[in-house]
Amino acid sequence: MTQQAGPFAFIGTNDLVAMTRGRALPLADINFTTGVGWVPADLAVTAMGGVAEGNPFGALGDLRLVPDKSTEVVFAGLRGGLPVHMFIADQVRLDGQPWECCPRTQLKNAVAKLKDLHGLELSVAFEHEFIVTRNDGVPMTGHPMAFDSMREVEPFGSELAKAFASAGIPLENWLPEYGAGQFEYTTPPADPLTAADRAVITKDLARDVAARHDMRASFAPLPHPTGVGNGLHIHFSLRRDGKPASYDSDGLGRMTREFQSAAAGILEHARGLLAITAPSQISFLRLTPHRWSAGGVCVGDQNREALLRICPIPAGSDPEKMFNLEYRAADATANPWLTMAAMIYAMVDGLDRGLTLDGIVEGEVEESGAPMLPATLDEAIDALKGDAIMNSWFAADLMATHIGIRATEKAAVAELDDAAKCALYATLY
Ligand code: GLU
Ligand code: MG
Repeated sequence: MTQQAGPFAFIGTNDLVAMTRGRALPLADINFTTGVGWVPADLAVTAMGGVAEGNPFGALGDLRLVPDKSTEVVFAGLRGGLPVHMFIADQVRLDGQPWECCPRTQLKNAVAKLKDLHGLELSVAFEHEFIVTRNDGVPMTGHPMAFDSMREVEPFGSELAKAFASAGIPLENWLPEYGAGQFEYTTPPADPLTAADRAVITKDLARDVAARHDMRASFAPLPHPTGVGNGLHIHFSLRRDGKPASYDSDGLGRMTREFQSAAAGILEHARGLLAITAPSQISFLRLTPHRWSAGGVCVGDQNREALLRICPIPAGSDPEKMFNLEYRAADATANPWLTMAAMIYAMVDGLDRGLTLDGIVEGEVEESGAPMLPATLDEAIDALKGDAIMNSWFAADLMATHIGIRATEKAAVAELDDAAKCALYATLY
């Protein structure tokens, strides 16, 4: 009797350039304890495909990618092929112990630290902006935020909503954005690991659904130096004993003391954090004033140029539940788990030291006297290297690899002008 080939299980991780990489095997053979083989140096692959020079792993060692059963998402068959069952995995040593360079494990550790030291949990939502183009080259002509833009990309939008539903990922909003063909989707808040897993899966789903309709979904931070940027905005709020712990109507910026300290921790480490949350060779072209991305290292009330924006509370909603901050200086070239882990460690440091905020920016960021963000990725990397507290959060090999990737990528695009760099990244992300 001939055996029927069944669908694949793809067991994947998301690496330091935010690409989902992994291995497939027949779904029937998946093993949730031993997983599949993996190689430490895989973490050092750059966005352009080479391996970062001077990475600490070289040709040595072996790991396992151990799938998390709860993350299963079925990707519909492409071009008549079978569906693929994707599983997010942790990177584990051969003895079954967690690998200290695994970004997903780092996030689990950070979540545990916030809980153990301060009894706090986080509620998190990632908002992704991206640009849809047609493979036949016909340009998108819909208007900013307009109904015609939404209709122009159909059936992409409604198929994406279906894909989210079948993946068990709730879709909150589907927005035509400012740029031609630019869209944003939001998902409701969840615990940090679920939110970061969703950030990985939803981007891959969006690209996949677009490909099925002869379109492309690009999450590159900036398609052209003069174009609109694609942000990744991360909303967060604190919870204690399952209840909201961020809102105090009498507090500075309506924030509880502990939410202020958590925010102050993010501002304290902001310069180095940027090297993790906006790590590509074009990320800092987006992070310039007047793009509504992020300009100043401050907390701003309903201000889209502040690193941390206090989000509005609509009349009629419960302020305790609604109140949250938005970190605006991330983009889709950042690893979601490492981004979230670094933000949490910064918050823990703010809470440990009882840091306080100098104030809340009410008007324009540029006129507020708030320090500006680093102007370049190099400045952010120097800040990361010089921040001893940040370096205590992560394994030295993980930091060395993260920084090494940026140096190799910088060399790879050294001959390109900004427009050519943006064009390259639009093909990569
Ligand atoms: N596209 C802007 C960015 O790059 C954000 C616009 C908005 O606030 O939705 O971050
Ligand atoms: Mg937006």
